[in-house]
Amino acid sequence: MKVTLQHVTKQFPGRGKGARAVTAVNDFDFTLPDGKLVGLLGPSGCGKSTTLNLLCGLLKPTSGKICFGDEDVTQLPAEHRGVGMVFQNYALYPHLTVRQNIRFPLENLRGKDKLSKPEMEQRVRDAAALVQLEELLDRKPSELSGGQQQRVAIARALVKTPRVLLLDEPLSNLDARLRLQTREEIRRIQRKTQVTTIFVTHDQEEAMSISDEIVVMKDGVVQQIGRPQEVYDSPVNLFVAKFLGTPPIHLFRGEVHNGRLLLGGAAVLAVPGVPEGPVTAAVRPEGFVLDEQGPLACTLNGVEVMGRDISVVCRHPDCENTVIRAIISAENTVPAGGTVRFALKPRKVFLFDADTERRIPFEA
Ligand code: ADP
Ligand code: MG
Repeated sequence: MKVTLQHVTKQFPGRGKGARAVTAVNDFDFTLPDGKLVGLLGPSGCGKSTTLNLLCGLLKPTSGKICFGDEDVTQLPAEHRGVGMVFQNYALYPHLTVRQNIRFPLENLRGKDKLSKPEMEQRVRDAAALVQLEELLDRKPSELSGGQQQRVAIARALVKTPRVLLLDEPLSNLDARLRLQTREEIRRIQRKTQVTTIFVTHDQEEAMSISDEIVVMKDGVVQQIGRPQEVYDSPVNLFVAKFLGTPPIHLFRGEVHNGRLLLGGAAVLAVPGVPEGPVTAAVRPEGFVLDEQGPLACTLNGVEVMGRDISVVCRHPDCENTVIRAIISAENTVPAGGTVRFALKPRKVFLFDADTERRIPFEA
């Protein structure tokens, strides 16, 4: 089912005397493609949970419209929307078994939706099989790992075959290894069920790794929407460039003169068509190429071995990052001490207007 947000805005009244209203979601306008997994990404407080709560019906928008398929659901109460929700803290009933937890949403079905006992049991089995928990149906939540508990919560969200599945930071409570495993599990379940899914996270790597599309938000405003690689390779503004990628992108105070980018006075890259003046130049860690004759001279701090790659740690007076981490293949030999010189890969360098922080395109 495709899901459309049409100019959706949500304001919360300010708390206390003279407090200003908060616009948690500002003019969100987007259609989630049917059957896809969309990653909603942004720092804490940018409006991700509010967006999910608007979609599931726990909140009503201040203005704008939400449609599931062609149906306007803006005023439809949460229980009639057919949405499955999964939260960070699993929210399982501790005194109920896994089977009872998964079955719970089915027991409240009334009228034409009411299910017989055997029908419920079948649905629970199907949902448990989907998340590979069939063996654990008689356990209590306290007898499960965090990852297993989160799979119970996912099964519970899927048991009513929702039209839309919403996951709000579902992996945040898990340790690193389980987080990796569970995110692959979520991807597999989503592919299998083909249910239109929004996956919320503040972790860019998580969103990039499993999403068909990502939506990057800041202060309630959508910054960019696209396939993960597309957004990484072509960020529209400085915020998006900084938010994606590990190690983070490097920022330099630069200057454009005669179609060349100058860093610390040295011409480091041809940037045809870019107007004269100060710019913020951003270089991805993989954008540096070791080159004895290279125009960008940095002071070498050391080398960190990462196996397949090495990270050349160095400094440059016009770089805003405390250190530069240039990621290069381990086959390279880094000169010992002193100065290390680089050339830059044009497609890994982005220029941004020093005031508006919008991307300034150039022919790479
Ligand atoms: P995120 O999930 O991205 O961390 P939220 O959607 O929870 O962000 O919050 C977005 C903004 O809206 C924050 O500034 C938050 O303080 C505010 N906010 C969220 N819920 C309420 C509420 N019920 N009342 C007032 N302000 C709220
Ligand atoms: Mg949140």
